[in-house]
Amino acid sequence: MSKAQIPFNDEIYCSFCGRSAKEVSSLIEGPNRVYICDICVHNSQEILKKKSGFETTLFNDGGKLPKPSEMKSELDKYVIGQEYSKKALSVAVYNHYKRILSDDSKGELDDVEIEKSNILLVGPTGTGKTLLARTLARILKVPFAIADATTITEAGYVGDDVETVLLQLLQKTDYNIEKAQNGIIYIDELDKIARKSESRSITRDVSGEGVQQALLKILEGTVAGVPPKGGRKHPEQNLVFINTANILFICGGAFEGLESIIAQRLRKSTIGFTADIEEAIISDFELLKKVEPDDLLKYGFIPELIGRLPVLVALEELDDDAMMSILTNPKNAIIKQYQKLFAMEDIELEFEEPALKAIVQKAKLRKTGARGLRSITEEIMLPIMYDLPDKNNILKCIITEAVVKSGSEPEYSPKAKVKTKSA
Ligand code: ADP
Repeated sequence: MSKAQIPFNDEIYCSFCGRSAKEVSSLIEGPNRVYICDICVHNSQEILKKKSGFETTLFNDGGKLPKPSEMKSELDKYVIGQEYSKKALSVAVYNHYKRILSDDSKGELDDVEIEKSNILLVGPTGTGKTLLARTLARILKVPFAIADATTITEAGYVGDDVETVLLQLLQKTDYNIEKAQNGIIYIDELDKIARKSESRSITRDVSGEGVQQALLKILEGTVAGVPPKGGRKHPEQNLVFINTANILFICGGAFEGLESIIAQRLRKSTIGFTADIEEAIISDFELLKKVEPDDLLKYGFIPELIGRLPVLVALEELDDDAMMSILTNPKNAIIKQYQKLFAMEDIELEFEEPALKAIVQKAKLRKTGARGLRSITEEIMLPIMYDLPDKNNILKCIITEAVVKSGSEPEYSPKAKVKTKSA
């Protein structure tokens, strides 16, 4: 559909309602001189909104809950590697929404209670934990909010009440409580609210445990009173009540040191076979994959909270190939985004392979996983993008290894001169 502004004159009419251009604020042109006016666009939206029941607004694909394999292949478009996590998450999320959509949404079916399966993602920083949660919410078209466990405090202390986590979700849905109650909340840095275990400190970290208790309430399902304008609750304030029973909580954290707790447990349970175990378990990821609730208990979590995070998923460190792929392959890959920006100025942007490799190497030094890729690419591209609009006649911009490594100028190829016809 053309976005071109239509010059208003009496001869153009909306093909749907017949109003003339003079009677409406704008007309959008389609192919073959078909027009639609702003009033008809608005009315169509209203019709569609009314038609879509809860399910259709909840999921894409006409209201059907995507199968785990469909979710996984959609995740593949955005998240590189992490095969095991993508499968585990797809199944957990599928079960969660199947439970909500079934008649058994309260959890009772022939005396079998399907419990809510909140998820804990364990793995190094910048490996895609938040991205996985965010992408799943987008696939399912459910509202999504991110909270940081470290900013939450026990009621009565300086910081955010646990309810502010829910407020974000409510705001995302324009205060549509029903939608918010079926959303996904990602709670980052859960590891930071661990009670310090004996091995790390002898002082009991009461606030950590207090926050865990506060989180536990919303994770297991409660009707929480949320101050709609944020801030701390006070008695005169009107509260919005949100039932968290169907909200899916995905928690994540790097859980540094958890590997050694797991290794210790494995060693103890296999006295005499220590060497085999050492040999078999080579990577931290292999260890993390074997995480059990007991390990989290040792790490400093209260058993009740662990019980509310029954799906434990480990993420692996990204290797060079995965990092290269993240730069260029996902649907909204960083490089593709820059190429699109350049294309808007009619300039082709090319990154040479050694340049991409150099970006990956720089990012690895930062030890922030794939997060470093974006910041490094931004640092490289900023001066180039600052200068570019002042340059004329550029057809192509090539980022070489030297641009990344030593800040050299990119290679530019000029546009071929267009010969003007002489009169
Ligand atoms: P964390 O594991 O710390 O939550 P994020 O999911 O926030 O990491 O990742 C930070 C950024 O790095 C993402 O926005 C994304 O651009 C990129 N990224 C990280 N992991 C992956 C991955 N597996 N596939 C694609 N991009 C990734």
